[in-house]
Amino acid sequence: MPYKIINFLEKHMKKSKNKNFGENLLENYKNFLDNGKTERECVSQIIEGAKANGYIDISEADTLKAGDKVYVQKMNKVVALFEIGSENIENGLNILGAHIDSPRLDAKQNPIYEKDFITYLNTHYYGGIKKYQWVTTPLAIHGIVCKTDGTTVNINVGEDESDPVFCISDILPHLAQEQMKKAGTEIIKGEDLDVIIGSIKPSKKDENSDEKDKKKKKDEKVTGKKIILKLLKEKYGIEEKDFESAELEIVPAGKSRDCGFDRSLILGYGQDDRACAFTSFAALMDSDKKPSRTSCCLCVDKEEIGSVGATGMGSHFFENALAEIIARLNPEYSELSLRRALANSYMLSSDVNAAFDPLNTNLYDKDNASFLGGGLVFNKYTGSRGKSGASDANPEFIAKLRACMTKAEVNYQMAELGKVDQGGGGTIAYLAAKYGMNVLDAGISVLSMHAPWELTAQEDVKQAYTGYKAFLQLK
Ligand code: MN
Ligand code: MN
Repeated sequence: MPYKIINFLEKHMKKSKNKNFGENLLENYKNFLDNGKTERECVSQIIEGAKANGYIDISEADTLKAGDKVYVQKMNKVVALFEIGSENIENGLNILGAHIDSPRLDAKQNPIYEKDFITYLNTHYYGGIKKYQWVTTPLAIHGIVCKTDGTTVNINVGEDESDPVFCISDILPHLAQEQMKKAGTEIIKGEDLDVIIGSIKPSKKDENSDEKDKKKKKDEKVTGKKIILKLLKEKYGIEEKDFESAELEIVPAGKSRDCGFDRSLILGYGQDDRACAFTSFAALMDSDKKPSRTSCCLCVDKEEIGSVGATGMGSHFFENALAEIIARLNPEYSELSLRRALANSYMLSSDVNAAFDPLNTNLYDKDNASFLGGGLVFNKYTGSRGKSGASDANPEFIAKLRACMTKAEVNYQMAELGKVDQGGGGTIAYLAAKYGMNVLDAGISVLSMHAPWELTAQEDVKQAYTGYKAFLQLK
């Protein structure tokens, strides 16, 4: 059962009677970020929003016809939404594909330990982070704990004003002479990204108890860790062993905010790639014209660690979902229909690009960089070391998209991530391209990408939304 984050929808519905996400787009976007700090929370919001717009779970549809709207989800961490078009599905779909996982710290499976009166949550970081950025900043814990009795406990601590937050400590400058000489990768080590979750010292009574008594009552001795475990038991009904089957993500605590006196920017966690996931989702929800080609919004997990796993783009999730669609469109299902639908599809791999950074101009080729506020970024190829790992979009397809964006009056910019030889990155584009479809990376510029708080331009969020809407109508 996907759990519900009603806050987002309640707020949205109050503001917008016609369920149009484009109205108050930026408020809806920030709301989506604040209530979607894990892939599960994003899937939950997307499904709730889709249901409110007439989408049903595919398991509830025996057959499908033009105009029908369904969603397919797996493990509550990946979701695909489909609006069936009037054309034969073998002619291909228009797919907006984004990812909803973001860099963070994950709790280990035996995470709680106490050292010198401080109780810690041991973590293993997820995705590409600069470890030193994650210390001395308020953190929240989001996720689930699955118990052996089959029940699941939802955890979300650190977001409400009245909630406690958590934090990773750092060395004071007065004693940091050696630390400050270290390489950036060594300043804070991965194993040291342990989150403080408590610090109660044993009481005087315990300390003063005589040796004999101490030994006898060793197991009963009150420790900080035991106090934390007791609190967890009381509040959530979970035991220490239950962390073995938990998925807890430690993320920056707090809401996304407007940034700058002119409020031109948004500062928020997880904008890679929820900026594109939200705008893709909103574009599909708000598509007013009935599409001729079937529209799809796909939000996948695990992109930040290589699109692996059952919920990543490297899995068969998407083609299985499409097979389910085709089987309901045509009772004489054929594998060939599926292959043709995939190969004839158009896709925007809606993922973010690195925004040009005026403080680090040497890292960018200015003529081929994307600028905050410059509009939707088209990235013909990603990859590194000579385009390695890129799908390299076809110019025929790019020309089609240029015409589409120009017609829709969408500002777009052609860009690469950074200078050749400076590094690189990847998206889900190459995995979709394996089916033979036309794919182009198309997303929003992000400054301080993968930092706890990332920056995007409000204008770009609008342009992406409008551009994605236009793409869904592409013939
Ligand atoms: Mn990304
Ligand atoms: Mn990323």
